[in-house]
Amino acid sequence: MKPIQEIYPQLAQPRNVAITTHQKPDADAMGSSLALFHFLKQFGDNVTVISPTNWAQWLDWMPGCDEVIDFEFNPAKANEMLDSADWLFCLDFNIFHRTKTMTEKLKQLHCTKILIDHHREPDEPSFDYGISDYGKSSTCEMIYDLITGSGYADKINEAISECIYAGVIADTGSFRFPSSSSSVHHLVADLKSRGLQHSKIHENLFDNFLENKLRFTGHVLLHRMQVFYDYNTALVAVPKSDLLKYHIKTGDTEGLVNYPQTIRGIKLVAMVIDRDEERKWSFRSKGDFDCNTFARKYFEGGGHFNAAGGRTTDSLDVTVQKFKEAIKENKSLLQ
Ligand code: 5GP
Ligand code: MN
Repeated sequence: MKPIQEIYPQLAQPRNVAITTHQKPDADAMGSSLALFHFLKQFGDNVTVISPTNWAQWLDWMPGCDEVIDFEFNPAKANEMLDSADWLFCLDFNIFHRTKTMTEKLKQLHCTKILIDHHREPDEPSFDYGISDYGKSSTCEMIYDLITGSGYADKINEAISECIYAGVIADTGSFRFPSSSSSVHHLVADLKSRGLQHSKIHENLFDNFLENKLRFTGHVLLHRMQVFYDYNTALVAVPKSDLLKYHIKTGDTEGLVNYPQTIRGIKLVAMVIDRDEERKWSFRSKGDFDCNTFARKYFEGGGHFNAAGGRTTDSLDVTVQKFKEAIKENKSLLQ
């Protein structure tokens, strides 16, 4: 993989560009994809954002979201755009299998593939150009770096600012995680000086849900959370019946994993959701417990040091049992 800087001189030349990200895109994935979309369009590029799956409805406010193609919903259109792409940008993921049913298609494409991502252990040989830096707060920060680093800061418009800010807020936990470096704050200062209305973005991200999500959160915290004080660990296991009862849709479970972290002394929070095709794990830690290694070792996953995910085809009961055994094995690291 050659350095991302090598594409900078080529940016001004119009071409067909496809931008994609991981399945069930979150605010950083969608924000970085749309920020890049709004940037490249200014060069006359024919740009399409393709999401491997649907996304949370509460991201629909993002400028350009209505133009994003859902690969699962409209495969013919998505394939047409992918087949005609000169460049494919892969944002906020670093290995093709995180695009689920789009994986084989991406592997087959012969266009130039460009990676921009901040997760650990990238599959670098799959990409022609790129940057992988797990020190970065968010992929949105990396898109900002690309725009300013390539000398086109003057192209940062309202749409780009809003998309970048949303991803930064989401991935830094509103500036609380250690990844909120001074350069993140400089970035925000720059967006503010360009006119960003930040309060609007917070409302769009955090005050934009339906009643059922809040009721579901209350139910889950009351009935589905276990705390293992010997391991400084909290576990939330959500059965399918809860998702059906509360009409839970894509994205409605996001943020839930953060609540148990507010209990004093908790070092690791694990949440597992019983989805149709798999049981999806989320892990969050504080301090020196490495979620990435834990998720990789026990749950076919990965991610960041303090936030990672995983999956399994085991039943909910079986995977919860495996989790309990895994924390026993990791007891010394959790104390
Ligand atoms: P979340 O718990 O919010 O789904 O994910 C936490 C972090 O881990 C995100 O940065 C996400 O992209 C990453 N992640 C989630 N699931 C997986 C997975 O199965 N594999 C890998 N490599 N990363 C994941
Ligand atoms: Mn991210």
